[in-house]
Amino acid sequence: MTYQHQYQHQDWQGKPIHLPTAKVVCIGQNYLDHIQEMHSKTAPEALFFIKPATALRPLAPEFAIPTQHGAVHNETEIAVLIQKPLSKVTEDEVMDAIWGYSLALDLTLRDVQAQLKQLGRPWEIAKGFDGACPLAGFVPAANIKAPQQLTFSLAVNGENRQQGDAGLMIRGINRMISEMSQWFSLQPGDVVLTGTPAGVGPLLAGDKLQLKLQSGSDLLLDVQTSVSIQP
Ligand code: ZN
Repeated sequence: MTYQHQYQHQDWQGKPIHLPTAKVVCIGQNYLDHIQEMHSKTAPEALFFIKPATALRPLAPEFAIPTQHGAVHNETEIAVLIQKPLSKVTEDEVMDAIWGYSLALDLTLRDVQAQLKQLGRPWEIAKGFDGACPLAGFVPAANIKAPQQLTFSLAVNGENRQQGDAGLMIRGINRMISEMSQWFSLQPGDVVLTGTPAGVGPLLAGDKLQLKLQSGSDLLLDVQTSVSIQP
């Protein structure tokens, strides 16, 4: 089977954004309530990891999960689209390089991840598999006055499951991107995922999801989608 490109960055109105489809750089353990629910061992250094471009999929109208590797957990996260190269930059240099903001699911094969953690092995495959990063359309940075005050939510089958507030991030958006750029150069089209709050849990085929991104009382994104099964 050959890999078919199934994703291109879009804006919140569904118009294509002319940036390449590239890697996704993620931060783990960026909200205290999620660290507590996972009973995670923490450290002062940030936990960064990468999903390859082949993990990207449109979030709506549906996205597919694998079913043969145990539980697939939702992690709802603010996504940031990078439009300029960033290498070893300071926090102040980050702002200009951001095209816009959106929501993503950092899909996680939780059973696979737990087994790998137990073996002391890297858990790359639990986070980087094909389709592991469904992504909504991006709202231009110019439309968002205070990205660090964005809030977001996930409801599954009508029940609230995750509630996020960028103000509660342990590392703020510009700081994490500056730190990421010390290790991984970011390039136009790269996406940064900013961590999940509490409320991770298994997704099942047929689940109906609603994801919202808000700036104060302004509703920036309201995405309805459903879960199907990967062929
Ligand atoms: Zn995550």
